[in-house]
Amino acid sequence: PDTTTLRLIDVEESHVARNYAPLPVVVARAEGSWVTDVEGKRYLDLLSAYSAVNFGHRHPALIAAATEQLGRVTLTSRAFHNDQLGGFATALADLCGKDLVLPMNTGAEAVETGIKVARAWAYRVKGIPADTAEIVVAHGNFHGRTTTIVGFSDDPQARDGFGPFAPGFVAVPFGDAAAVEAAVTSATAAVLIEPIQGEAGVILPPEGYLRAVREICDRHGILMIADEIQSGLGRVGTTFACDREQVVPDMYLLGKALGGGIVPLSAVVADADVLGVIRPGEHGSTFGGNPLAAAIGRQVVDMLASGEFQTRAAALGEHLASRLESLVGHGVTAVRVAGLWAGVDIDPAVGTGREVAERLLGRGVLVKDTHGQTVRIAPPLVVRATELDWAVEQLRVVLAA
Ligand code: PLP
Repeated sequence: PDTTTLRLIDVEESHVARNYAPLPVVVARAEGSWVTDVEGKRYLDLLSAYSAVNFGHRHPALIAAATEQLGRVTLTSRAFHNDQLGGFATALADLCGKDLVLPMNTGAEAVETGIKVARAWAYRVKGIPADTAEIVVAHGNFHGRTTTIVGFSDDPQARDGFGPFAPGFVAVPFGDAAAVEAAVTSATAAVLIEPIQGEAGVILPPEGYLRAVREICDRHGILMIADEIQSGLGRVGTTFACDREQVVPDMYLLGKALGGGIVPLSAVVADADVLGVIRPGEHGSTFGGNPLAAAIGRQVVDMLASGEFQTRAAALGEHLASRLESLVGHGVTAVRVAGLWAGVDIDPAVGTGREVAERLLGRGVLVKDTHGQTVRIAPPLVVRATELDWAVEQLRVVLAA
């Protein structure tokens, strides 16, 4: 890195808490699948801000929707109505095949909201005794960083030193439907899972797992909550990762790409018999449902409604999978791919995931490691096949180095 990069990193590190360990690149501009740093170097973005930039950086239709709304009104709070929220909620509910939307901002807020709704539903509809409801979660989960959520994480880095934690969660192995069944009691309100575990390293459950969880939830009268914050909205080649098994959860938790890579926008989406349990005054957010985010979110939903991004992700994902699989045995020990989302396990003999990410940075490719040996690949869904080929070639070179 030249002095400009080093100086800007130094300024940032002097006054920003060290809750991340960013790669040494300072981004100044971006368009589509490419970002440009302060030195004018270009990089292919294979992270897409953890899938928040699914439609590419500054997609013209999203920038147009944002710009249009910036010229009208950006924030009203929900003390009043605004003329954007209803249209956004209608379109999103329709995309999900559900009745109602509860808009929030970040993913963690959507998860917290889902937990509150599930508990309220358990007490008010299911008749579980007050303050005893349990939610079944999966080992290896990642649902965000708030104290309640890290309390049911089993990642020591996420959890250790931040207790005491909220009770009411029971963790079972991911991908094991029998373990879910065994964990269900008369106090169970919901099963909360990522249909594909993202931060854990793009972990795909065995075929049939989601259908089995759906069946268990139906049989016991409990809610199936799918955290599709990272897996949803086109990433895996279908609108939702649950679609891969034709499963419809009772509650979708959405975020990241919902805000078009422009604003934080998340949502809980469910039918009226579930989301309808929340009454005025019981839950809220100053920014949740703001007209700027709603206008952008509406455009995101409209773009997904055509299915064009999902089709692209599915086709390019197969292409990516075949290229990545050719690296197994050549510095890669395993590859897991779902649409345009891949977890690539790096052979420890070659280096750590972080080291591979640093070497790729030097060759103009941005990726992020997760859990030591895994490199996660999640390009914008507008990426070209030739760009993917070039990126995999750079990976082949750094693995051989
Ligand atoms: N849920 C899942 C599955 C995620 O991958 C993430 C973020 O990585 C979150 C929730 C939390 O989202 P946020 O960082 O917007 O709070």
